[in-house]
Amino acid sequence: MNVYDSERMTDILAPVGYEPTDLPDEADLVILNTCHIREKAAEKVYSDLGRLRLIKERRTVGDGDTMMVAVAGCVAQAEGEEILKRAPYVDMVFGPQTYHRLPEMVARAHRQTGAVLDTDFPAESKFDHLPDPSAKGRTSAFLTVQEGCDKFCTFCVVPYTRGAEYSRPAAQILGDARGLADAGVREITLLGQNVNNYHGAAPDGGAAAEWSLGRLITELAAIDGLQRIRYTTSYPADVDDDLIAAHRDVPKLMPYLHLPVQSGSDRVLKAMNRRHSADDYRRLVGRLRAAQPNLALSSDFIVGFPGEDDRDFRETMALVEEIGFVGAYSFKYSPRPGTPAAAMEWQVDEAAKKERLAALQELLNRQQQAFNRACVGTSQPVLLDGPGRHRGQLLGRSPYMQAVHVSAPPTLIGTIAEVRIDAAHPNSLAASLPDNGVVDGRAIA
Ligand code: SAH
Repeated sequence: MNVYDSERMTDILAPVGYEPTDLPDEADLVILNTCHIREKAAEKVYSDLGRLRLIKERRTVGDGDTMMVAVAGCVAQAEGEEILKRAPYVDMVFGPQTYHRLPEMVARAHRQTGAVLDTDFPAESKFDHLPDPSAKGRTSAFLTVQEGCDKFCTFCVVPYTRGAEYSRPAAQILGDARGLADAGVREITLLGQNVNNYHGAAPDGGAAAEWSLGRLITELAAIDGLQRIRYTTSYPADVDDDLIAAHRDVPKLMPYLHLPVQSGSDRVLKAMNRRHSADDYRRLVGRLRAAQPNLALSSDFIVGFPGEDDRDFRETMALVEEIGFVGAYSFKYSPRPGTPAAAMEWQVDEAAKKERLAALQELLNRQQQAFNRACVGTSQPVLLDGPGRHRGQLLGRSPYMQAVHVSAPPTLIGTIAEVRIDAAHPNSLAASLPDNGVVDGRAIA
């Protein structure tokens, strides 16, 4: 979602004359879009700011054109004033719900001597004020449909930094998706912190007052040109019948689901305030796989949550063994300010966290490699996103989010090619085009 937000900041700054650059030395404005989810991500902000300060000072002493520095995102939301105390050279601090005000903030920052601080949760939705998203030659794009979270997992800062759950009206999302498809986007990933609790206002004239995520996906699938739909991230207890049916009935919905479980121990899940047990998760996966037998799953895990002992951890390992994941993000528990878990007794020591994380990642990695190897010899539809590392190669994605290097000409960028998987490498697959030379219904030159 931070990638999406950064793109939208670029979109809203374009009309006032800013364009993106990769070089901070050339920038008139540097925006650090930050993450507060774990301590490590949050701490990184201050080391990056230290580097930017040097550039800013150099520029100011030189020809007098000053560089502006802004901190955006969830660290800005959570720490606000504190950032200005620790880094007084920062010109703007604003949270994830106010960046539609950026042009006005920039103007204010130029006018006034002090910094601009805007960490409101405004009544208006930023989506009503942002320009249409630009697609800029991309084949794949993110599209936020839902934001915020009301779940209050005891480890998590999201409800405090992103705010309460909000679903965008369906008509707005369909409009954005049509625009992206017209501009050449072939795949969209619907985003939300709790995306499957999407319940946006239905377009006028329909019978239903609200659409579920399953309904939204079904309607998006009717857009010509759009060939693939994904969504992330889901909360297990909010997967409903509509969504399971969409996995069965909508061929454009990719058979890949990121479904965070966090732990395989009911004791830990309860302390986390997850509203599902390990068996609830098993049953849900069973229903999803019954609807879509090709479904591959990925997940998020936290090891070393307060009170987690060896037995709890073994239950997590058992769940992973049993379900089988093709990808995962796993983390050591990181105590976050203001969250209930940070104040819990029985914090797990660092050595145990480290050991458990290594064991879990070893298992998850083994499963991922086995899945990749099982793909060798199969045929997969691969969306060719752009040039690969070597000449004569394109890089694409399989339905299961695997990176696939395909020997193919650049004219095929933006198409879906049915390729033969020839080899599995640690982080990617190698593939070749079919012998009949037909891709996406077109003959290859
Ligand atoms: N539903 C959210 C979850 C965001 S955070 C979303 O995807 O937007 C992504 C993952 O970070 C969580 O699923 C969890 O596994 C991990 N995480 C969140 N808070 C954490 C903490 N305090 N310590 C360690 N990992 C954490």
